Amino acid sequence: MILPIVGLGNPVLRRKADPIDRDYPNLKELIADMFETMYAADGVGLAAPQIDKSIRVVVIGFRPYDEKTDTYGDVSEEHTLINPEILERKGEMRYFNEGCLSVPDIHEDVLRPDTIVIRYFDADFNEHTEQIDGMFARVAQHEIDHLDGIVFTDRLSPLRKTMIKRKLNNVISGKVHTAYRMKASKR
Ligand code: ZN
Repeated sequence: MILPIVGLGNPVLRRKADPIDRDYPNLKELIADMFETMYAADGVGLAAPQIDKSIRVVVIGFRPYDEKTDTYGDVSEEHTLINPEILERKGEMRYFNEGCLSVPDIHEDVLRPDTIVIRYFDADFNEHTEQIDGMFARVAQHEIDHLDGIVFTDRLSPLRKTMIKRKLNNVISGKVHTAYRMKASKR
């Protein structure tokens, strides 16, 4: 089932989300709905607060890029992260152009480390500790930020923030059009 996506301005995006345990009701169904919602909106990641659930669940799905052939794979690389934690940030700091389904029409270069070590539980509640990089690391950091009430535009320089202020205010007041369904902001 495709769920409506919450936009910036809704307080759920500013809350620190709660960890869950394996008994969380209908977890498998929730994860399936999150993937469906993400793909329907052409996203590569979705955090549960974006569908108005303040819990620490993230789904990620993107077509892997192959540098050698300069092509994208046909099959999406998928990850489900439950209660994820970033244990270590390493590698180089890099800019990458990010967007967010909760902040439509805004794309900005965001500086983040290109390699991280994360610990998380998968959809079957198996624990993993992995060093990740590339697209997976980029999207994971953006989505884990959502679980802590942080949106990617928070990470921009004061100058960039000033420059996009009007666009951000349009998002907050719901004055944007999206190809996917958004939930009316409750303020
Ligand atoms: Zn986002």
